[in-house]
Parts: sequence; C-alpha cells; structure tokens
Amino acid sequence: MRVTRYGVGVRKRIDEIHKLRSQKYLCPRCKKPAIKRLYSGVWKCKRCGLEIADNAYSMSIKAIN
Ligand SMILES: [Zn+2]
Repeated sequence: MRVTRYGVGVRKRIDEIHKLRSQKYLCPRCKKPAIKRLYSGVWKCKRCGLEIADNAYSMSIKAIN
C-alpha cells in the first residue's frame, strides 16, 4: 500500500479551491467588494449583510481580483 494517497493533480485542485475561496466579490446590493464565503454554498456581504446561496467554492457573480 502506498503512503501518499493524493497525487499532485489533487493538490493542485485544492490550491485552486483555496484561491477561489479567498477571493472577494462585489455585492449586488451595495456594490462593495465585501462578499465573503460564510460556509459551503452560502456567501455573505460584510457591509450590508446580504446572504447569497451560490456555488460551494466560487460565485457565479463577477470576482474582482
Ligand atoms: Zn452588500
């Protein structure tokens, strides 16, 4: 049995997920880049408190960075 179960490809994908999760998004209500991932599939605007249900690791609305 091999010690490492996860190859380079999987690790690369996890890196991308981390990148997507740390991105900020423009809030569709207050137009400020304050949307942060609250938990899987739920995003919240830190400024106006708007909560959005979207994809688990990225948002379908436009990312700003
Ligand atoms: Zn907002």
